[in-house]
Amino acid sequence: MSVSTGSILCVDCGTTNDVGAKACWLCGKELTAGNTVAVPPDPTLAVSQAPQFDSTSLVLIITVFAVGIGVVAIEPGLIIPYIILAVPALISTHTKASKRRDENVPMSSGEKVLSFFVSAATIFAVIIGVLLAVAIAVGLVCAAICFSGGIDFK
Ligand SMILES: [Zn+2]
Repeated sequence: MSVSTGSILCVDCGTTNDVGAKACWLCGKELTAGNTVAVPPDPTLAVSQAPQFDSTSLVLIITVFAVGIGVVAIEPGLIIPYIILAVPALISTHTKASKRRDENVPMSSGEKVLSFFVSAATIFAVIIGVLLAVAIAVGLVCAAICFSGGIDFK
């Protein structure tokens, strides 16, 4: 339902009437200059003109997408690890960007891309750290088994 700016509102019932109408079509109240209100421009239009999805986020999405294509071009099998890194990094960047927007200092596209790669590198380091810890733990268990098995070597 759209309301044109050329309409007037009946103050009695709030119904939209055409400009120049003598009486409200719904309640019959006389529409004079004193008891009508001009309809303001449709507020839903103003909202849609300020989308939440700003251009800086678009730059980040395109960057992430372009890197993904590059990864597939180099080694298609790497796309899964890339997605595993990219998704939480995107969420982290989005959270930081939302906080910055609340503080009225929105991130630039460069800051968002930088934040994304820093997050991805951090997640990568954590994954490598966990893998190393697991490898060391497995190595210690192996060594323990080898030592216990190697006691009677005479
Ligand atoms: Zn009316």
